[in-house]
Amino acid sequence: MEVAYTQKALEEENHKLDSMANFDPLTQLLNRRSMGANMQQAWESAQKKGTLFCVVIGDIDDFKLINDTYGHERGDTVLVKISSILTSLLREDDAVCRWGGEEMLLLVRANLEITRNIMERIREKIHDTSILDNGTSVTMTFGIAEYRPDLTIQQMIRLADDRMYQGKSEGKDRVVG
Ligand code: GH3
Ligand code: MG
Ligand code: MG
Repeated sequence: MEVAYTQKALEEENHKLDSMANFDPLTQLLNRRSMGANMQQAWESAQKKGTLFCVVIGDIDDFKLINDTYGHERGDTVLVKISSILTSLLREDDAVCRWGGEEMLLLVRANLEITRNIMERIREKIHDTSILDNGTSVTMTFGIAEYRPDLTIQQMIRLADDRMYQGKSEGKDRVVG
């Protein structure tokens, strides 16, 4: 009885440690570390079997203003809601990670054209959702980089980031790539 109890408690503790190690506590998205393993796997499979994928960097527009206007707690709620939109519009095989404060990194297992369509749908959905309860919407800017055999994962992320910043300078609330 006592042994069984200890075993169960240990398993629960392990499970908790496991999810703490892999997921962001606020949004429940993958954290940076566990996303690294996912991307490595996608990249190797692309090298060996030619399966295409894209890396997408998304950054919430004017998030500092949202915090300043509505408070940090409502800002947190916005992060959670946006995360769940991202997850719900991607496929099971894809992955979403909280890359930094209000920056997400997505792994989409599809070619550039399909990824563009998916990201445009996600951008629209975020734009059209009243994320703040007063009916105000929040927008997000995305940059896409498609797999190429001559690019490392780091270079793909860099390219996606550059494109995201290009989208910011062109007026935000858009998908570049
Ligand atoms: P841009 O449209 O150019 O992206 O402007 P921005 O205001 O979104 O960008 P900036 O980098 O100036 O501000 C990001 C803000 O995100 C500042 C920081 O306080 C906020 N932030 C980062 N992490 C969190 C978090 O976990 N919760 C909340 N509420 N805010 C966060
Ligand atoms: Mg940012
Ligand atoms: Mg931002």
